Amino acid sequence: MERIAGAFAAALALAAGVAAASTETGGVIRCEVAVIGGGSAGFGAALAAARMGVDVVLVERGDRLGGNSVRSGVTCWEMGAGGTGIPFDLYRRLRSVPGAVGIYTRGRHMSTFDPAREPYRFPGGENLIDPSRSYADTLRRWLPPGPHPGGIEEVRRRMWHGVVFEPDAMAAAMLAMLQETGRCRVMLGTTFADVQGDPERIHAVVLSDGRRIVADAYVDSTGDGAVCAAAGCAMMSGQEARSVFDERGAPEKPTAKVNGVTLIYRVTKAPEPRVEPTPSGVPTNCWWASRFPPAVFNQYPNGDLNVNMLPTMEGSQFLQLGYGPAMEECRRRVDAHWHHVQTTCSEFRGFRLSWIAPAPGVRESRRVVGEYVLTQHDLLAGVAAQKHPDIICVADHSMDTHGGHTKASGEVPGPYGVPYRCLVPKGRRNLLVACRAASFSSIAASSCRLSRTMMQLGQAAGTAAALAKDLGVDLPDVPAGRLRAALRGQHVQLDHPMPSDLAAHLDEGG
Ligand SMILES: Cc1cc2nc3c(=O)[nH]c(=O)nc-3n(C[C@H](O)[C@H](O)[C@H](O)COP(=O)(O)OP(=O)(O)OC[C@H]3O[C@@H](n4cnc5c(N)ncnc54)[C@H](O)[C@@H]3O)c2cc1C
Repeated sequence: MERIAGAFAAALALAAGVAAASTETGGVIRCEVAVIGGGSAGFGAALAAARMGVDVVLVERGDRLGGNSVRSGVTCWEMGAGGTGIPFDLYRRLRSVPGAVGIYTRGRHMSTFDPAREPYRFPGGENLIDPSRSYADTLRRWLPPGPHPGGIEEVRRRMWHGVVFEPDAMAAAMLAMLQETGRCRVMLGTTFADVQGDPERIHAVVLSDGRRIVADAYVDSTGDGAVCAAAGCAMMSGQEARSVFDERGAPEKPTAKVNGVTLIYRVTKAPEPRVEPTPSGVPTNCWWASRFPPAVFNQYPNGDLNVNMLPTMEGSQFLQLGYGPAMEECRRRVDAHWHHVQTTCSEFRGFRLSWIAPAPGVRESRRVVGEYVLTQHDLLAGVAAQKHPDIICVADHSMDTHGGHTKASGEVPGPYGVPYRCLVPKGRRNLLVACRAASFSSIAASSCRLSRTMMQLGQAAGTAAALAKDLGVDLPDVPAGRLRAALRGQHVQLDHPMPSDLAAHLDEGG
């Protein structure tokens, strides 16, 4: 852990020392591309543009990069198609830091409890570091159609592998990679407040300290589409009625329901086994549901566990309560959940609660209406049948809403593509949205939201912004063929099955 913290400090020092080519005079910062939000998507956007020689400013209100992946403790890249390109570069970077990253294999799962072999039902799912696995093993979620004679869980165990990383190392690696381009000014602790412009174009973004950023192109990577909302773009939230996109999993009438929120926590080996006392005022029973929710327990390379309740709170309740009271309530639920886990499963008495994420993990908020809206039809069709000319990444995560409020759930039949038009807010000429607020229906968002997919949206946005500059065109007019060729050159997977040269590239470094 100390070495990882050291790497983070070194990267911060580097951040202070490297001058990028943007300029600042009289409270006006000028650059070619302004990226707002430094989570997975914003990092991908800034890095892709800067690597193509564009002068970038990246604005992040937190004290470090990584967004959900760092501050909310989502320190796992779940298995899934795509995930080549910048995510692979980042993985290789992390691998050079001892203890920073590992690959997991599924362990026990509550659904396969066998009383003859196990003392109790595991309280969710378990993922354990597996040194025999390579990065390429983490790039598949979809499963072959059944029947599966040994049971589906056996197939999952064989085929599902993800990446687990230390959050400080992730933040440091992101910062270092951006600074090494010499083209990206990273503004941490800086908050976007507003936009100036007209209905087609942003002229400047305004920061909360009053400074303005004037850029040729803007990328909204705030996670909740804050820049697009301020610019007056049409937004969606909650579940759309079935009639809107004709999705078979959508409800008859629209609802305000959004995917669940989880306050992730970490446990560390304890010197003596014991059940930790719950703080005063925290009941030991589950007061918000009929029973405690299951959780995913991901093992870190150092043996600690990351605990991700599914979920801690319903998304709509989180929004109703408001940030402060909702966080307070989530913290109480964490204490109660950990107590429950320790009392019901003796193995956890050997751990102590060592960290609660400083920010809640918000899976879904509002989404932008773009030139194309990705829907359940795309997810079920698959990349070949979609016939979109502008696919910029592939994904294959299941449709999963934690909180169980939708009829659309379950695995997708194979990788599907995300068109570039999902990143173009309707009618806007110099603004892209690359984050979980991109133009997805509620059902599509439940599948498409994984961190590596977000990084790939960012990679496409940054690449498109660089091409727009080179070609002298507005963002919506970037030719799809040029964009896809550039992304292929950056080892982004656009096709299924994966082309052999891309597989060979992964084999070389994975
Ligand atoms: C509990 C939970 C578990 C998950 N599990 C997994 C998993 O196992 N594997 C997986 O791959 N994915 C998982 N996901 C999904 C994934 O983590 C997120 O969808 C993804 O990280 C979102 O990335 P993003 O860049 O769109 O947004 P974020 O990571 O939220 O980044 C947005 C950034 O913008 C910044 N920002 C916002 N507003 C402003 C402003 N006004 N000014 C400046 N900066 C601003 C924020 O501080 C933040 O850093 C999970 C998500 C949650 C919530």
